[in-house]
Parts: sequence; structure tokens; C-alpha cells
Amino acid sequence: MSFTSDIKMELCKLENKKLCCMKAECYGIWLFSKCFSLKASAFVTENGLVARKMAELSAAAAGAQPETSFVMSRRKKPAYRVTLPEEESRRGLLSAFGHTGEETSLRVHWENLKGPCCVQAFLRGSFLACGTVTDPQKEYHLEFSVP
Ligand SMILES: [Zn+2]
Repeated sequence: MSFTSDIKMELCKLENKKLCCMKAECYGIWLFSKCFSLKASAFVTENGLVARKMAELSAAAAGAQPETSFVMSRRKKPAYRVTLPEEESRRGLLSAFGHTGEETSLRVHWENLKGPCCVQAFLRGSFLACGTVTDPQKEYHLEFSVP
């Protein structure tokens, strides 16, 4: 287990106390996932808790029904693929965050973040989607690999 996956597992255990934060975390995960558009929405992770968190947040925050399947990651490791197979589901999730899904690139819609609580939740979601961090006992490094 890497330090990053330990941190992600810890973050997945945090409960959002407010709906605004639940939506913000969901937004962070999807916005920084592999693809988030009307044509296709998918996210691949080797971490089962992250996959489950994403599915739960999508359902709770926007009523979307994601599907989870088993795949091989780019690093040839067993992974989970979370997708929104129904166009209606993709449209619903995108419009819940003020996007049409037809934009050439997605920019953060700040109005989805109601306050500091939501900014934290959004960063948590973003980190779950594309973040890595090294053990601060060894060195300091935090990275977001944005698709
Ligand atoms: Zn909030």
C-alpha cells in the first residue's frame, strides 16, 4: 500500500455533513476524472473505496446511477472503472454542476462551491481523482495530474 492510497482511504471515510459539500466533492472527482462529457463519463481507479465513494456521491449529490466494473489500470493492475452508461445520467450530472458536456474544455464553475467547507470537499474530490502525495517523513510533494 502506498502512502497516497492510505491517505485516499482515510479521505473516503470522511462524511460530508452538508449537501453542498457532498456535491462539491462529487464535482471535484468528476471534473478531474478521465472524461466527463455528454459523450462519455468514466473514471478508473485502483482503489475500491474511491470507486465506491464516487458512486455514492454521484447518486446522493445528483441522482446519477454510475456503473462499476473491473478493468486493468494503465499500470496493469486490477482496477475499478466507474462510468455513467446512460446519456440522461451524464446530462443530469453535468447540468447539476452547470455544464452542458459539450464544452471543448471544462473550467471550474466556482458557483458550485458555496463556501470554505465546499472548497475543502472539492479539493478532497480532486485529490481522490488525480492526486498523489509523498510521505512527509521522507519529503514534501503533493501533485494533481489533471487529464
Ligand atoms: Zn459546503
